[in-house]
Amino acid sequence: MVPLLRAGDRTRSLKEIRLGVLEDQNINAANAGGGEFYVTTGLLQKANDEQLRGILAHEIAHDDLGHVAKAQVLGTGLNLGVILLEQIIPGSSTITPIAGTLVARAYSRSEELEADQHAVEILQRAGYSKDVMIDALAWVMQSSPADGGGFLSTHPATQDRIASLRQLK
Ligand SMILES: [Zn+2]
Repeated sequence: MVPLLRAGDRTRSLKEIRLGVLEDQNINAANAGGGEFYVTTGLLQKANDEQLRGILAHEIAHDDLGHVAKAQVLGTGLNLGVILLEQIIPGSSTITPIAGTLVARAYSRSEELEADQHAVEILQRAGYSKDVMIDALAWVMQSSPADGGGFLSTHPATQDRIASLRQLK
C-alpha cells in the first residue's frame, strides 16, 4: 500500500506537510492549502481506519486540485500542533490536540464532486477501492448532527456525492 500523500499529483516533501489536530467533538477535516491539513479529535476518535482514509483522501484531493479552502484555526496563536498520522505518513503517530476553532468556507458542489472523484483516483493509486470514499461519506452522514456543524457544513451535498461516486468505474 502506498501512503495516500504519495498517491496525489503533487509531490510534496514530508517536511511541507502540516497536520493539525483540533480539540473538537464534531467530525471534521479541512485543507488550508499548501499541504496544511486539519482534523478534529472527534474524527480521529469516531472514525475507523477506512473511514479516516476516505476523509483524508478527500482532503488531499482538495489540496491537489488547488481548491482555495481558506481554512484557518482561531484561538491557537502561532502554535500549530503538528502531527504525522500513521495512516498517511508511516512511522509516526504522535498526536497533540490543540485548542481552537476551525473556520473554513464551504466548498461549492462542483468542487466537492471534483474532489470526490480525485479522492477515488488517489485511493485507487494507493491500492484501495472507491468504496472507501463511498463508505466514508455514508458514515459522515449517519454520524453528523442534522442541524449542521462539522464536515457536512463545509463539504455539502452528500447524497448527490454518493450517487455520483457510484457511477464511477
Ligand atoms: Zn470537500
